[in-house]
Amino acid sequence: MLELTYPIRLRATKTNTFFTHLVCSACGHVYSKGHVLTVCQQPGCLQPLLAVYDTRRRLNRKYLRHRPASMWRYREMLPMVSDANIVSLGEGFTPMLKATGLSKKSGMFSLFIKDESLNPTGSFKARGLSMAVSRAKELGITSCVIPTAGNAGGAMSAYCAKAGIAAHVFMPTATPDVFKQECRFFGAQLTLVDGSIYDCGQLVRQQASIHGWFDVSTTKEPYRIEGKKTLGYEIAEQLGWILPEVIVYPTGGGTGLIGMWKAFDEMEQLGWIGSQRPRMVAVQSANCAPVVKAFESGATQMTLYPDSFTVANGLRVPKPYADSLILRVLKESKGSAISIEDEAIIGAVKEIAREEGLLVSPEGGAIYQAAKQLLQTGWIQPEERVVLVNTGSGYKYLENLK
Ligand SMILES: *Cc1c(COP(=O)(O)O)cnc(C)c1O
Ligand SMILES: [Zn+2]
Repeated sequence: MLELTYPIRLRATKTNTFFTHLVCSACGHVYSKGHVLTVCQQPGCLQPLLAVYDTRRRLNRKYLRHRPASMWRYREMLPMVSDANIVSLGEGFTPMLKATGLSKKSGMFSLFIKDESLNPTGSFKARGLSMAVSRAKELGITSCVIPTAGNAGGAMSAYCAKAGIAAHVFMPTATPDVFKQECRFFGAQLTLVDGSIYDCGQLVRQQASIHGWFDVSTTKEPYRIEGKKTLGYEIAEQLGWILPEVIVYPTGGGTGLIGMWKAFDEMEQLGWIGSQRPRMVAVQSANCAPVVKAFESGATQMTLYPDSFTVANGLRVPKPYADSLILRVLKESKGSAISIEDEAIIGAVKEIAREEGLLVSPEGGAIYQAAKQLLQTGWIQPEERVVLVNTGSGYKYLENLK
């Protein structure tokens, strides 16, 4: 069996992590890292918690050079206390591809695809769930539960299998069969729900408290964001430590968006990058667009979007839990939010396949379509560096991609 080599040998530091404590993203209450944590427990708060690191410790980015090509190369800025608890299937350090074919077709001269489809279980959910399951193991948790629109369930099941942790998955019935089958293969207990991930989430909350399962719902535990933030580190490293002007991201629960934004601040504190930031674009399906609706109305919170099917099942999140954090990132970055019809999403998937030889997920199709529209309106300039985050593999969606 192929194993990555841990621990990573460090030159500048004695311990492996700079992780010190957690802080509430809303009220600032501080939490110790030694406990099992969900959301802020201050009366009436219940907002997401974020991990904090001691960036005064200094870490020269040149030390990265000899490290493994996985997200664990940013070891000091990850929350694991002990390397022995890391549950890894080789996630992260995915290719940053120059999209030459799409550049020519679209007129965006500096277009990149960060291809997350090459992660274990075929999506970038691997980053967040490798981290969350690793921390769960470190804190002695023996069973996890997750509501999922598809990819998160498969990823959690895989990492739980590797960790020897029991896995319970709640998934909408309308999700393609592949997503269900992979959970079963990984030994998870799968429950199908007529409804959306929101309905799954309600059931999970109830069942978790009955059975004592640990709930790894998006942004209801602090560590999936820590895994997904490595996307931001990689984008910086792979583009020579100069961030692009625009990052286009298909937004469901928003972990990647929030995580990347956090990563940029951390890297600036470490002296790895300057103060320049990309404009962050949240892309959604027209069938489920609570982020776009709130962004356009200038709201600071979101309302429950009427549920309906979309071929981009990762975006079928009628009310993201971290709504105010998502909107904060869009505002701070001078970003935008845009929704795309399912038909145009499928058209874009086919165009990317023909031009680039990549079978991207519908979520990946949506962001390319969004970028083209933003170029047309002049919001994106032709010479700007644009990174499309293709979050998943199209191979898992073929059943719904007619
Ligand atoms: C989950 C998922 C998304 C949305 O990611 P969030 O972090 O929830 O915003 C986008 N694309 C794919 C393929 C996904 O599985
Ligand atoms: Zn709080």
